[in-house]
Amino acid sequence: MAEPVAAARREAGRVLFARPWRFIAAATAFVGLPAADNIEVAFAGRSNVGKSSLINALTGQGALARTSNTPGRTRQLNFFGADAGLTIVDMPGYGYARAAKKEAASWQRAVFDYFAGRANLRRVYVLVDARRGLKPNDLAALDLLDKAAVSYQIVMTKCDKLKPEALEQTTAATARAVARRPAAHPMVVATSAVTGLGLDTLRGEIAALVGASAAA
Ligand code: GDP
Repeated sequence: MAEPVAAARREAGRVLFARPWRFIAAATAFVGLPAADNIEVAFAGRSNVGKSSLINALTGQGALARTSNTPGRTRQLNFFGADAGLTIVDMPGYGYARAAKKEAASWQRAVFDYFAGRANLRRVYVLVDARRGLKPNDLAALDLLDKAAVSYQIVMTKCDKLKPEALEQTTAATARAVARRPAAHPMVVATSAVTGLGLDTLRGEIAALVGASAAA
C-alpha cells in the first residue's frame, strides 16, 4: 500500500478508536443480539489468547473487555460501540485442550448461526498466540468461517514474547497456512497489547472497513 494511503488509514483508525467505547449488550447467537444497524467486526480466538487485552489496547480502555474466565460471560457475544458506525464483538473463547472436541462442538453451535446470519458482520479477526501458531481448534474455527463465507484475518498476539526473527518466521508460516483458504485475508497482523505493536495497523484496517461501508 502506498505510504500516504497507509498513513491516512492509520489516522482514520486513531480517530475511530479515540472515541469513548462502551459495553452495549451481551447476547447469544439466538437471544439478545442488538440491532444490525452498524457494521460489525468480531474478535475470536482460543481462551487466553489475549483477546480481552487486545480489545482493551485497541480502544485504550483498560477495562472494556473483561479478561478471561469471567463467570456467565464466557459463552456470550459481547458488543461494544462508540456511536461511530462500528460495533466491536468479543466472541466467546474456544478450546482448552482437555475438552477440545466437546468444547469445539459447543463453540461452533454457539457462533455458527451468528457468523452465517449476521449480514452486517464485515470481518472476524482470529487471534493466534504468536508463540503457539495455528492449533487444530483454530483451524476448526477457520473452517467454520470459510463455510459461513465470512471474511476473516489472522492477528498474531503476544508478539513481544518472540525475537524479531522468530516472529517473522511464524507470521510468514501462518500467512502460508491460510493462503488457500477462501475467506482468509492474505495479510497476517502481528500485535502486542504490551508494546502496542501493530495496533495502529489494525485500527487502520478496521477504519477502512467502516469507510468502505459508508461509501457504499
Ligand atoms: P483472553 O482470554 O483471550 O481474553 O486473554 P486475556 O486478554 O485475558 O490475556 C490472557 C493472558 O495473556 C493474560 O495474563 C495477559 O496479561 C496476557 N497477555 C495478553 N496480551 C498480551 C501481550 O500482548 N503480551 C504479553 N506478554 N502478554 C499478554
